[in-house]
Amino acid sequence: MKEQARQARAESRIVGLVPTMGALHRGHLSLIERARRECSPVIASIFVNPKQFGPNEDFSKYPRTFESDSEKLERAGVDFLFAPEALEIYPGGFATYVNVDGLSEKLEGRSRPGHFRGVTTVVMKLLQIVQPNFAYFGRKDAQQSRLITQMARDLNLDTEIVVCPPVREPDGLALSSRNVYLNAEERQAATVLYRALNVARNELAAGVRDALHLQTVLQRALSAERLARMDYAEIVDAETFEPVVRVKRPCFVLLAVFIGKTRLIDNLYLEPKSLDAEELVFHF
Ligand code: AMP
Repeated sequence: MKEQARQARAESRIVGLVPTMGALHRGHLSLIERARRECSPVIASIFVNPKQFGPNEDFSKYPRTFESDSEKLERAGVDFLFAPEALEIYPGGFATYVNVDGLSEKLEGRSRPGHFRGVTTVVMKLLQIVQPNFAYFGRKDAQQSRLITQMARDLNLDTEIVVCPPVREPDGLALSSRNVYLNAEERQAATVLYRALNVARNELAAGVRDALHLQTVLQRALSAERLARMDYAEIVDAETFEPVVRVKRPCFVLLAVFIGKTRLIDNLYLEPKSLDAEELVFHF
């Protein structure tokens, strides 16, 4: 992979990287489409990174669909697929980690200790191997893409991090490889995340700015769904991911919810329509 990427760079081509864990869906493919518009070659990686799963998480049963993934990537016009083995990425004696202090410990990091350290470490390694001009990530994982942008800045990487909007099912459920864990009843219940985000949007559009009030509204919307158990529902500053008291700057409404045993996350990004404007623009 290093040799191929090095050659492309030597030819002054614009190299794009789309890191994934496989079990590919239209969300992943949207990143590839964007990369294809801006880069050639486009390199996709598939690596189910053991270091970002906690001991009681789903590493061993995470969906692995390599054959159909590689067909999808070929049809999508990806030039190279990088699918290393765990031992190539973490050979014996591996000892160096990347951690974005502070940001890594909040929200997802609080619920999943060590998760983001695993993410930033593997993404740093992928960026070192490929040294792409652009690397593409989904805003579906809002805190993750924020962390990676921070890491790229802090470590003076030559890669520009591009964050792309979430792709959703027609009923609003954000596409995720973990959606395959849901049975039919849970799949229906999983729409509660999008419904809750919409309830918050409607309150905000009606002028509500008090974060505590919005949180209560989110909790109420989520508790209406019998199969849903809230992990967190927060309104945070889009830069710092610190909870806000009132919504005035760009913010995320962040949700993490268990549907049965499956943990799903989703978010709504919102920003003032213009500098100091009261009116907000919403990005699902
Ligand atoms: P994963 O395979 O889950 O690690 O995801 C690989 C990349 O795809 C990450 O940058 C994700 O944020 C992104 N991604 C996952 N789901 C979606 C989605 N529904 N829409 C857009 N991007 C997504």
